[in-house]
Amino acid sequence: MPQLRWLGHAAVELNLGGKHIVIDPMIKDNPVSPVKLNYFENNLNLIIVTHDHYDHLGDSVELMRINPKAYLFATYDLENYLATQFNIPWERMIPANVGGYIDFDGIKLALTKAVHSSEHSDPTGAIVSGEGVTIYHAGDTGLFEDMKLIGEIFKPDYVLLPIGGRFTMDPYQAAIAVEMLRPKKYAIPIHYNTWDLIKVDPNDFVKEVSKKGYKALVLQPGQSVEL
Ligand code: ZN
Repeated sequence: MPQLRWLGHAAVELNLGGKHIVIDPMIKDNPVSPVKLNYFENNLNLIIVTHDHYDHLGDSVELMRINPKAYLFATYDLENYLATQFNIPWERMIPANVGGYIDFDGIKLALTKAVHSSEHSDPTGAIVSGEGVTIYHAGDTGLFEDMKLIGEIFKPDYVLLPIGGRFTMDPYQAAIAVEMLRPKKYAIPIHYNTWDLIKVDPNDFVKEVSKKGYKALVLQPGQSVEL
């Protein structure tokens, strides 16, 4: 059974299509992470980074070191920076940009637009699809109308949306995003309550989402869901 586990903040662990994947792996500086970094030693196939803010790039460089067979999926420009700066072999990069699906050994990956900022390259969201399940991780983003297109093109089963406000959408805006993305299963809130600056009540999101006829699923850090 494919599985998704929220590691707190924007960090998400996926077991999908026989692959062990982590998205935006801030582990060490994540006050609510249920795991230590060595949990991921020599068992990751893929690291996905939506953008290079420290709470998203997180421990990616070290994870690439302790997982010599893992690949990294991010924008070409961010990968180029990481490869040069941290001496990561280019062969382990999966270069892409906002666009269509690429195949990674049986699972499908794509990068999407995000309305946000970053230091190197542009910020993105990510789509991961395998075993008939499609997941959209929005990265950090404000609300934008093209989410309709993301819903239309990728038809996500699960959408992982930042709801912390201030740096991203808040619970009310994220509920509008759900309406545009039309997830077939659940909208899962992320990127909130890690620190006081992004403190919100996820139940506001749940209520707004259900008013619009969709279902939200609030996970605790460390909690997983079978997809
Ligand atoms: Zn950010």
